Amino acid sequence: MILVSSCLAGFQVRYNGSHCLDHKISKLIEGNKAIPICPELLGGFSTPREPAEIIGGNGDDVLDGKAKVVEKSGRDVTEMYLKGAYATLKKAKEAHAEVVVLKEYSPSCGSAMIYNGEFKSKKIIGNGVTTALLKRNGIQVISEEQLFL
Ligand code: SF4
Repeated sequence: MILVSSCLAGFQVRYNGSHCLDHKISKLIEGNKAIPICPELLGGFSTPREPAEIIGGNGDDVLDGKAKVVEKSGRDVTEMYLKGAYATLKKAKEAHAEVVVLKEYSPSCGSAMIYNGEFKSKKIIGNGVTTALLKRNGIQVISEEQLFL
């Protein structure tokens, strides 16, 4: 089984209430080959919500307590991001997922690049919080950009 980001499956769960449907992903869902998950909703957020970025590092640094996730208005939401990451890991283990396809650039789901914490659309190399945790637990994470069916 594969876990995929809910927003890639067409669910309107992004911070601004939109989705980012990827037809490769929706075909997997329709064929009962994938389960949609949204780490941020699992962490207790609702939609819409404020945009957030990792400040002071990347998802690995957040797991290590060296960086935090902060909303644009300044609220520290690190604990909610961690909660969502661990809830996603639990679901991945329950589904025996060997591969997880997550939305690139998200502070939760990014797997190659994330935004740099300045809220100026600048990207840096790094994992999101959920991606970092899944990888540490031996689960392969790729983005929709790396999925070729
Ligand atoms: Fe949820 Fe990840 Fe999509 Fe953000 S990128 S809406 S956390 S599934």
